[in-house]
Amino acid sequence: MTAPLEAERNQALLDWYREHRRDLPWRRSSDPYRILVAEVMSQQTPVERVARAHEAFVAAFPTVEALAAASLKQVMAAWSGLGYNSRAERLHRAARIIAESGWPTDTESLRALPGVGPYTARAVAAFAFGERVAAVDTNMRRVLSRWHGEPLRGPALEAAAAKDVAEDASSWNQAVMDLGAIVCRPRNPSCHACPVETWCAGPGVYVPPRAQPRFEGSTRQVRGAIVRALVRREATLAELSAETGSAPSRVSAALDHLTAEGIVERDGDRYRVSGGP
Ligand code: SF4
Repeated sequence: MTAPLEAERNQALLDWYREHRRDLPWRRSSDPYRILVAEVMSQQTPVERVARAHEAFVAAFPTVEALAAASLKQVMAAWSGLGYNSRAERLHRAARIIAESGWPTDTESLRALPGVGPYTARAVAAFAFGERVAAVDTNMRRVLSRWHGEPLRGPALEAAAAKDVAEDASSWNQAVMDLGAIVCRPRNPSCHACPVETWCAGPGVYVPPRAQPRFEGSTRQVRGAIVRALVRREATLAELSAETGSAPSRVSAALDHLTAEGIVERDGDRYRVSGGP
């Protein structure tokens, strides 16, 4: 049962959400597969890029069974451009488990899937299966810290989120996300236009997190370029170095990681996407 203050704030938040919600493709459905794909894509990619990539990905693999039946090479090709391609490999493994054993339907059992951390498990549990659970991420942490007037983290953040989450957890989680993206932004929040200003301590307590590391010249960039090259054809280390424009030592280190993660396999001196011809 939500306390009166939280109930009033949630009502104002949900009223605002009905009018201002972002129209994201996976929100038009409660299909757990579409939601899982969207949440895995969103783990390290901005939502605008995810919106474009998501439609193409679910067009290529419309069901969890279709994804499970695809080769890793096909999945990597469809994931191209999103980066952090180990996510695609784990999503592919998760799809194979679900296709064989059926959908886990609560947070705890979703957590057992490859690549599904606490946030993703809760998001899928709330959006697809209606579990009353708060999907806490950095965005929600900022918004809730401001509501409560203290920089929340760890157990205090979990306790605040569990107390605040509305019975309609699917709408509530998405409403907090949208409030954080549109109104309660990290810098210069629009408090004057905020539906919950009456019940909020204000933006003063929030400390913005450190910026993400640069992508240009990063290990992530080298890994992405290698996987894109190997989706086209298998290659030697020297060929990959020439094709990606990266030093052989960096390509070799990236290949070691990609091989250890099961994304790439080696046959003699040639590398290819695992499981492919
Ligand atoms: S009043 Fe300001 S700080 Fe509080 S939730 Fe709204 S935008 Fe964020």
